[in-house]
Amino acid sequence: MERKRKLYEGKAKVVYETEDPKKLILLFKDTASAFDGVKKAEIEEKGVLNNTISCLIFEILEREGVRTHYIGRVSDREMLVWRAERFPVEVVVRNVATGSIVRRLGIREGTEFDPPLVEFFMKSDELHDPPVCEAHIVLLKLAPPEAIPLMRKTALRVNEILSRIFTEKGIRLVDFKLEFGKLPDGSVAVVDEITPDSMRLWDMRTGEKLDKDRFRFDLGDLLEGYREVLRRLSDS
Ligand code: 5GP
Repeated sequence: MERKRKLYEGKAKVVYETEDPKKLILLFKDTASAFDGVKKAEIEEKGVLNNTISCLIFEILEREGVRTHYIGRVSDREMLVWRAERFPVEVVVRNVATGSIVRRLGIREGTEFDPPLVEFFMKSDELHDPPVCEAHIVLLKLAPPEAIPLMRKTALRVNEILSRIFTEKGIRLVDFKLEFGKLPDGSVAVVDEITPDSMRLWDMRTGEKLDKDRFRFDLGDLLEGYREVLRRLSDS
């Protein structure tokens, strides 16, 4: 499958049409960005690592029966996906308190969430992705009302699957962000990417951060962390 017309270019990916109107190609760029694009850098190889990790994770989820937009890996930095009507909502699952929840609600860093916490945010650069409740999602028509419980349930199921797999690899899945959309067959599915850009992953032995927080807070070489995640995920 080959790239045709460019549909959209985001901070980390470019979306292309293909000869099949129902299928798109996502191209993962080497750009790293944080804090609404205020901090930015080109990091050679990041796109390849993110595509590879995202493909591996989507394959795991599909095997476990989670509906996703994933069709297959096209090349080292391209993924083939079903075209989706994307909901402008970010669904965040948290197992441990860190990041925005600590700043927003004053919860102590490191607090364990049992059961895991699910939060919704509106995707809006202009408004800096504000947190929204289910009533806001309905009011603003961000997603179909019937998709809300499904997004919550699927996000928790993804958390179970990925927490188990990462634990086996000595990594704590601290939190992650998912996006959802409606596929051509009408089903609601996990879309976008699942990478260390959108997850927090801590080494269970050393506490080392293996995700984008390395770039956000200058904690070390980003590639080293992402390569380590890929190495452990590929290790069977
Ligand atoms: P927080 O709300 O603490 O900033 O982020 C929670 C989790 O969701 C983190 O794993 C973070 O990487 C992910 N996340 C939140 N917003 C975004 C976003 O706009 N883009 C990406 N790639 N990940 C996000």
